Amino acid sequence: MYTLPKLPYDYNALEPFVDEATMRLHHGKHHQAYCDKLNATLEKYPDLMTNPAEELLVKLNDLPEEIRVGVRNFGGGYVNHNFFWQILNIPKENNLLDQPGPVGGLAKKIDEQFGSFADFKEQLSDRAIGLFGSGWAWLVFDKGKLAITTTINQDSPLSLGQISLLTIDVWEHAYYLKYQNRRAEYVEAIWSVFNWFKIAENYDLALKS
Ligand code: MN
Repeated sequence: MYTLPKLPYDYNALEPFVDEATMRLHHGKHHQAYCDKLNATLEKYPDLMTNPAEELLVKLNDLPEEIRVGVRNFGGGYVNHNFFWQILNIPKENNLLDQPGPVGGLAKKIDEQFGSFADFKEQLSDRAIGLFGSGWAWLVFDKGKLAITTTINQDSPLSLGQISLLTIDVWEHAYYLKYQNRRAEYVEAIWSVFNWFKIAENYDLALKS
């Protein structure tokens, strides 16, 4: 059985950038539903549930065909949200940095590949804002390089052999209560609550994989 992980901060911790009501609904209802539906999908395959859910997405194409779509959608939703909560952080802690933004080896790599943090931020934001419908914008590590990508629905970069470093959930449920149809405002706000220490750690781990 997969279970809903507790948030690593309080529901109101990301205010005013991400509001408490959205966080309660997003984690308590949407994420919980993905978790429940993943468990239901795997009911006849209890052995598979002993794997970390991430592994199921990495090996999606090897799974029995009758559960592949369910794992892709609900397993993706479960894992994507687990990951998303981890790379966000309370603004106060981000302000420990002189200038909130990438740290460590990741900061250098971003400058090297994208020119500057500002250029990187613009490119990722544009992809997030421009994604049609529901999905996610990502910074991934792929074949030794950083890449900005998007996935639709709850598809995971893990199923494409990529390693997730950072993501923005651009499903309407992630922002509609506070920002209504103003996705661009939500995308700008999310930059204030990224956990750059965690994201840099993701990069360091990706280098070792
Ligand atoms: Mn979501």
